[in-house]
Amino acid sequence: MSTRTHKTGILPGEGIGPEVVDASLMVLDAVQKAEPVRLEYLKGEAGSYCIQKYGTNLPPKTVEMLKGTAACLKGPMTTPEEPGSPRSVAVTLRSIFDLYANVRPARSLPNVTSLKPNIDMVIVRENTEGLYSGKEFEAAPGVGVAMRIITRAASERVAKFSLELAMKRRKKLTFVHKANILKITDGIFKQAVHDMAKPYPEVELEDLHIDIATAQLIKRPESFDVIVTTNLFGDILSDEAAQTVGGLGVAAGANIGDRYGMFEPVHGSAPKYTGQNKVNPIATIEAVRMMLEYLGEKKAADRVGKATLKVLEEGKVLTYDLGGTSKTSDMGKAIAEKVLQLN
Ligand code: NAD
Repeated sequence: MSTRTHKTGILPGEGIGPEVVDASLMVLDAVQKAEPVRLEYLKGEAGSYCIQKYGTNLPPKTVEMLKGTAACLKGPMTTPEEPGSPRSVAVTLRSIFDLYANVRPARSLPNVTSLKPNIDMVIVRENTEGLYSGKEFEAAPGVGVAMRIITRAASERVAKFSLELAMKRRKKLTFVHKANILKITDGIFKQAVHDMAKPYPEVELEDLHIDIATAQLIKRPESFDVIVTTNLFGDILSDEAAQTVGGLGVAAGANIGDRYGMFEPVHGSAPKYTGQNKVNPIATIEAVRMMLEYLGEKKAADRVGKATLKVLEEGKVLTYDLGGTSKTSDMGKAIAEKVLQLN
């Protein structure tokens, strides 16, 4: 059987980043022994620690390196909040590579506290425009203005992406907006979803306002399949969805464009846990699983997913957030071993 090779960027990040990325690389190393796939890792620097060294949190040589790869794994990074500080590395990479769909699965897992036992949804958030792009100015002293730009083109492509995803899943697409109040911007988004859905008659469409969507996500989380929404609504809704299935330690996100994919844990750099080998690496391992799937390595991705489920089911290795005392590296090692043991 011929082995397929993929050049993959690895940005370990900072804080707990290097620890969770190392644990995930144990799993990626194992999968390469079990499946005919080879990943050539190209490591790069990015994060707030680069600012003093390079004057930016995303050095140009890292961007150049990433341009030569098919996808990247991005560890968590610290984003300084002072006015005038650089914007987050994730936001910059989304813009450079035009990663327009932010894909955030939320699924009930064994031995992980979940609101209901059978939650399995994916939130697709438009990733390039809307309020989250942070286009703001002070029109007069004490009067701030933020621009919420919503375009037909960006709404159409994220709607199409979500419809294609729904077709591969349970064929239900919920679109979330506030078109009763934001009649122009969300009116454009809503109309784009309706029009793009015409060639997909098998997909059941559900129309929800953002306020009621946040309530329904708690009341009936198991009823959702794919949810598509605008950038800031998606940011909020996907953290809420993550919490319904166990929180930040297990939540991962994919940022997908037409030519590139960036994969990351949803959590940040958790500075208070840095260097303690304590946090849960499953969010980053899940990011790796999604990256393998994006690279077309479905068998390798499934192997990682099954190994993670098995380790959770056995419940012998669990990090503090899941009620255990295991270390980050114990969890990485346990999942890597399971990857090798599975048939
Ligand atoms: P955080 O996600 O870093 O941590 C919040 C809390 O969540 C932690 O104190 C911890 O209790 C828990 N947690 C996070 N990851 C965990 C894991 N893997 N296992 C178990 N528990 C975990 O959020 P924060 O403290 O608000 O942000 C810290 C820094 O990270 C900030 O600078 C923020 O801007 C940045 N951030 C970066 C990203 C990213 O790089 N994608 C995302 C969110 C926040």
